[in-house]
Amino acid sequence: MSVVKIAVPFELRDRCIDYGDAKIEEAKRNPNSRSASVAWGDALTNPDVWTRSKIAECAACLYFELDPVPTLRWGQGTDPGWDFPVQLPGGWPLVDVKETHTKTLFWPIYKNSFFDQEPFHILISATAEIGLSYATIHGWLSKGEFRARRIVSRGLRGEPKEPGTRYVPHERLHRMAIFPGRADDPREHYCWCGDWVAQFDSKVIETLGFWVCHRHAEEALRKWSLTSSSR
Ligand SMILES: [Zn+2]
Repeated sequence: MSVVKIAVPFELRDRCIDYGDAKIEEAKRNPNSRSASVAWGDALTNPDVWTRSKIAECAACLYFELDPVPTLRWGQGTDPGWDFPVQLPGGWPLVDVKETHTKTLFWPIYKNSFFDQEPFHILISATAEIGLSYATIHGWLSKGEFRARRIVSRGLRGEPKEPGTRYVPHERLHRMAIFPGRADDPREHYCWCGDWVAQFDSKVIETLGFWVCHRHAEEALRKWSLTSSSR
């Protein structure tokens, strides 16, 4: 499993620290707000949890050459269930970055019942330390792949500590170098939504010039015919 280390500038890290402090203040002021009520474990009182997750989001933005300041949400209020969109041929997947200090990509247990309804397409696993000048990105999975590959933690060594937490070990994630639309391996074909394109229609690929899954092929062809007829 190859990881990617991303330098996070100090001024950005300081912004993440301020964000973490503000989230704790917000939770204190509105104990019944969604972010406070769903926050689990020490996230309610420990600003570092918020800071590290924001640093991880910044690192993922920087990986895609996006400026984290205008791209990410820095204000208060509810989390819509994704962090930022990435522009790819055919669509805009919504990326949700999960910060981890385990060797797994895990879904927070308090959000188990929200998994299906959350609007994100792709999960990215990253590790951040406030004292370091970089963050580590471990890899990605589509929503469907996470659902198919997830293991339920029994709280054993190497697993997320809360039994019932759903997770995928880092060695079962995709490398960032085969992210949809930017794969360095010509045999790896993913739709913008993150789903692997197992069976393809060579005519569709030829027409569009990029790979697309069956679910999104029709929409992509419709958009293509609209833009080509307006030329
Ligand atoms: Zn798709």
